[in-house]
Amino acid sequence: MASNPEKPATATARRKAGRHRGEGQWAVGHFTPLNGNEQFKKDDDGLNVRTRIETIYSKAGFQSIDPNDLRGRMRWWGLYTQRKPGIDGGKTAILEPEELDDEFFMLRVRIDGGRLTTAQLRVIGEISQEFARGTADITDRQNIQYHWIRIEDMPEIWRRLEEVGLSTTEACGDTPRVVLGSPVAGIAEDEIIDGTPAIDEIYRRIVGNKDFSNLPRKFKSAISGSPLLDVAHEINDIAFVGVEHPEHGPGFDLWVGGGLSTNPKIGVRLGAWVPLDEVPDVYEGVISIFRDYGYRRLRNRARLKFLVADWGAEKFRKVLEDEYLKRPLVDGPAPAQPVQRWRDHVGVHRQQDGRYYVGFAPRVGRVDGATLTKIADVAEAHGSGRLRTTVEQKMIVLDVEQDQVESLSSALEALDLTVRPSSFRRGTMACTGIEFCKLAIVETKARGASLIDELERRIPEFDEPITININGCPNACARIQVADIGLKGQLVLDDDGNQVEGYQVHLGGALGLEAGFGRKVRGLKVTSDELPDYVERVLRRFQKEREEGER
Ligand code: SF4
Repeated sequence: MASNPEKPATATARRKAGRHRGEGQWAVGHFTPLNGNEQFKKDDDGLNVRTRIETIYSKAGFQSIDPNDLRGRMRWWGLYTQRKPGIDGGKTAILEPEELDDEFFMLRVRIDGGRLTTAQLRVIGEISQEFARGTADITDRQNIQYHWIRIEDMPEIWRRLEEVGLSTTEACGDTPRVVLGSPVAGIAEDEIIDGTPAIDEIYRRIVGNKDFSNLPRKFKSAISGSPLLDVAHEINDIAFVGVEHPEHGPGFDLWVGGGLSTNPKIGVRLGAWVPLDEVPDVYEGVISIFRDYGYRRLRNRARLKFLVADWGAEKFRKVLEDEYLKRPLVDGPAPAQPVQRWRDHVGVHRQQDGRYYVGFAPRVGRVDGATLTKIADVAEAHGSGRLRTTVEQKMIVLDVEQDQVESLSSALEALDLTVRPSSFRRGTMACTGIEFCKLAIVETKARGASLIDELERRIPEFDEPITININGCPNACARIQVADIGLKGQLVLDDDGNQVEGYQVHLGGALGLEAGFGRKVRGLKVTSDELPDYVERVLRRFQKEREEGER
């Protein structure tokens, strides 16, 4: 029988033909059909929801919220509905979104470059205590995240945040998210270049600008001039990495198309060197390519990494230069491999000006409003009032005189925020998990904290750099794919055949110039209860059998 010439025979051929029909790229005229997300973005810009929150929803309450605002546009202002308490992970994939929705919200405060003052931290702490039942987590994107937020309180929360120069604008949604920055920008002795002016200009030019508020999906960015490569630049949609050009001096190496979650990809270098004052133009060019050429037809192909994978670095750079910048970029060198594996700035380090910065470690980023307020007091008493958050869920106090370092360290220890953490406390991260996240299948934060305590008790002598990242579902909020030990939450079978909380294990992932994804250990799943035993076994065997210099 002759095959139907209209219908390609194989799945690959069909996929190619489908792409030919269009991936939803505006720049080539593919404006329809629209999926649900593209439709609500077309109907009304996500940024417009703020007026409705202030004038209608905060007065009439949760029930008055339009569903497209509730599960869509609210994100443009950092708001997500949180998971109703008591729904177990087995129901996550079965229930409708409205059955999982609580009447409370998660709220993300964006902290571009991780820069905070003690005045800002105090306000963050007060909001936590007054409006968020004391919750406040430091995220691995340098943000602060609250839970238990009521829609009625949002106008007052925004008023307080904005009074001290903080915002939740485009903290979530298909938008230009927080710009990660080196937590020691402008102060580190070994700094190649300070990217702070570029972060500020990008925020001023792009964030809250309706030219860039309807992207195909989220757009993650990072800028660091630290030789430690301290912003996980490899897994951002765009990243600027400090390098010394042999002729032009310090500037940035440009990376695009990184991202984890489904189909994880390490970003690719475009081979271009960008001087500091041109970083915002190049950022604008790349985000414009994403807006115009990004795939919008299928949500799971809408991140920039898919376009970069299809085009390749050479074509991407050419389109950037020819259509957006209207000039060629300068060729430049790649960054060098950092000399150390810890990139979190924990501990005591000298600044350029002879003072010190002091990095400390909560457990898995979990703090609370009262603690944040106390951190502000302690930082103010010992430093100049400047702090930073890191992409490892840690914090740093800046500008500490040498004779204040010990007193500051003791004051932080008294808050259970150690400056000299074990490798386990230092290297373990966890996402939000089932406590609040609607996509979660398992518990993460409490599990991570208890794993740290247990490993410290069992292997106190272990002092290698090690990363143990815990996700509550197959997404990648805690970067499991690039951890030494990555734990992906799922339901597993225990010895008696019962479905219980557990993890799929990934081993051997890394960031840096040897960046790569951990290997999914085939069939290796551990129950939550078995987790300390399993990790202890892996680490003991690693200690025993490793070769010289082996991670
Ligand atoms: Fe939620 Fe999954 Fe992200 Fe964790 S990894 S915060 S469970 S979406």
